Amino acid sequence: MVASVRIESVSKAYGGVLAVDDVTLEVERGSIVGVIGYSGAGKSTLVRLINGLERPTSGTVHVGDDEITALTERQLRPVRRGIGMIFQQFNLFRSRTVAGNVAYPLRVAGVPREERDRRVARLLDFVGLLEKAHAYPEQLSGGQKQRVGIARALATDPHLLLADEATSALDPETTADVLSLLQRVNRELGVTIVLITHEMEAVRAIADRVVVMDEGRVVEQGALYDVFASPSSPAATRFVRGALHDRPSAAVLDRIRGTHDGRVITVSVTDRPGLVAAIARALSGVEAELVHGGIGELGGRPVGALTYALTGAPAAVEAALESLRAADLDFEEH
Ligand code: ADP
Repeated sequence: MVASVRIESVSKAYGGVLAVDDVTLEVERGSIVGVIGYSGAGKSTLVRLINGLERPTSGTVHVGDDEITALTERQLRPVRRGIGMIFQQFNLFRSRTVAGNVAYPLRVAGVPREERDRRVARLLDFVGLLEKAHAYPEQLSGGQKQRVGIARALATDPHLLLADEATSALDPETTADVLSLLQRVNRELGVTIVLITHEMEAVRAIADRVVVMDEGRVVEQGALYDVFASPSSPAATRFVRGALHDRPSAAVLDRIRGTHDGRVITVSVTDRPGLVAAIARALSGVEAELVHGGIGELGGRPVGALTYALTGAPAAVEAALESLRAADLDFEEH
């Protein structure tokens, strides 16, 4: 794997608070990695450690061939041009036009005017805002503002883009537009993206890999499908269940219990061949009523959950649950 970002045993303490706690993590060049966690998990601190805005208490950070943690502030400046960043609140200059915002990093880098104008026009065309070049940020919608933020972040041709809650202030439809623009940035321009978010839907939409953070630590990481189909940490399990909507809520469970006798279980569906048939076989000795759930797709592979109400002689129901376990089928009883 060619790493774009390599974080090794990094910790960052603020006084007594360990914001990032012994994190080791690699981001493959050309990939989109979603870093998910609740507020306070340490995600923003991790982003600021990647671009050198914060120094770790211990550990090292490499971006490409540069050891960020070994560079002085002055040495960091040219390196940061290779690292774009976008923010939840867009952070645009209100007094500059759209074109002026996108041109700003090029001015700072000393790019001559003609070249600057050409690049600004090309970037605004890429994000679909060429006709807004002379508008001011306050005349734009949230989604348009983030498009300007993306164009500005791309101005210096970065190989890495850090997105810190970039869609968290947007409505779902605009979020989908911005995420598909980020996907184009990745696929068409080859920019590696680290997507920091508390929204599993955003990760699900475009990430190749998922890193789950909780209380400063990486508690789980893996390919998108694997984390969704078989989360192993409590934090990942909560995020995945919140995003898949195929497990019964407490209210739905109450209704199921009101209309069905017996024990209620939910079996996880993955892409294991013959899985649904294996469930049917394991439950064949009892009355197994399918009461909730479904099978969706993630990256073209099945993922979901099926909830059954099981009735029959207590020993038969117990034997059915044992058959599920013996067949290595993952389930929970409600
Ligand atoms: P997230 O982005 O996941 O919400 P943060 O990285 O912002 O998490 O914060 C992680 C922890 O570090 C929190 O407990 C937060 O209060 C603390 N923290 C972050 N930045 C600072 C700072 N500059 N000074 C003191 N504490 C901080």
